[in-house]
Amino acid sequence: MPGSFDYFRARNLVEATAALKQEGAVVLAGGTDLLVNIRGNKVYPQLVVDIKGLPELKGIRETREGGLWIGALTTMKEIAINTLIQERYKALAEAASVMGCFEIRVRATIGGNICNASPGAETGPVLAILNAAVEIGGPGGRRILPLEQFLLGPGRTALGQGEVLVGFILPPLPSGSRTAYLRRSRIKGMDLAAVSVAVLAGLPDSEGKREIRVAAGAVLATPARVGTVEEILKQGPLTYERIRQARDRFAEVIAPRAGSLRATPEYKQEMVGQLMEMALAKLAALEYRLEEVATL
Ligand SMILES: Cc1cc2nc3c(=O)[nH]c(=O)nc-3n(C[C@H](O)[C@H](O)[C@H](O)COP(=O)(O)OP(=O)(O)OC[C@H]3O[C@@H](n4cnc5c(N)ncnc54)[C@H](O)[C@@H]3O)c2cc1C
Repeated sequence: MPGSFDYFRARNLVEATAALKQEGAVVLAGGTDLLVNIRGNKVYPQLVVDIKGLPELKGIRETREGGLWIGALTTMKEIAINTLIQERYKALAEAASVMGCFEIRVRATIGGNICNASPGAETGPVLAILNAAVEIGGPGGRRILPLEQFLLGPGRTALGQGEVLVGFILPPLPSGSRTAYLRRSRIKGMDLAAVSVAVLAGLPDSEGKREIRVAAGAVLATPARVGTVEEILKQGPLTYERIRQARDRFAEVIAPRAGSLRATPEYKQEMVGQLMEMALAKLAALEYRLEEVATL
C-alpha cells in the first residue's frame, strides 16, 4: 500500500519552489510516471507539489534567435499537433505522436518525460539531436543547462532541491536540415521503446559532406548523441560502405543492459544501426536505395 502524503497545488513558480524545499517533496505534472511509481512503492513522497497550474511552464513560442521555447507542461498531444514543431522539428512531433496511447499523450508532459530520466524516454534522443537546452527555475533564480548536462543517469537529473524544469530551448536548425525519429518496441500497440534513434541530416556540400547528428534511446545510461558514429557519417557521401562502417561503430559504442525486459543487447546492437539507416533513407540522405539491399 502506498503511504499517505500531503498535496499542494502551486499557483506560480515562487510557490512551487518554496514548497519543494521541504524534505520529501516531489513535483507532479501529468502524473503518468509519478503515480505509477507511488502505486508501485518506488517513491514515497511526503508532499506532492502539483505544478499543472503554473503559467510560467506553459506555451510554445518562437525565440528571438529563430528557435523555439517549449514549456515543460506541454503535453505530447500538443507537441504532436503543433504546426511549428511539425514544420521545423519534425522528429519531435514524430516521437510525441508514438508515445503511449491517446489517454497518456493528453496528460504526459515533455518536462515529465525528461525529468523522469529514463534511458528510453521518447523525447530524449530527439532533444539531443536538436541541441536542446533546459531552463530551470528555483530558489537561486533561473539557470540554463545543455540537455547532456541535465541528464546524469537513469532516474538522475541536475535538478537541485526546490528546482523545477521550466522549459526547453531549441536553437534554429542548420539551414536545409531535416530530422527523423524511429523506434522499435516488443509489441505493436502501446509499449515503451526497446530501442530508438533520432537523426538530423543537413544538405550536402560539393564533396557530399553534411551536418549529421545521431542520438539513441534505451541503449545508453541516458538518451544521447553518439559522436563517433556522427564523425564517420560526416566524412563524405552516405554510401553503402560508409553506412556499414557507421552501423558497426554504433553497435560497438552502445551499452545496452543485459537484463532489459524489452530486448537483448544483441537485438539492440543490430537495431540501432538499422534504425539509423532507415531514418537517413527517410530523409533521402543515402546514396543508395534501401530496397536494393537486404536490411530487415
Ligand atoms: C501506460 C503508459 C504508457 C507510457 N508510454 C510511454 C512511452 O511510450 N514512451 C515514454 O517515453 N514514456 C511512456 N510512459 C511514461 C510517461 O508517460 C512519460 O515519461 C511522461 O512524459 C511523463 O510525464 P508526466 O507529465 O506524466 O510526468 P510526471 O509523472 O508528473 O513526473 C515524472 C517525473 O518527473 C518529475 N517532474 C515532472 N515535471 C517536472 C518539472 N517540470 N520539473 C521538475 N520535475 C518534474 C516528477 O517529480 C516525476 O519524478 C508511459 C506511461 C504509462 C503509464
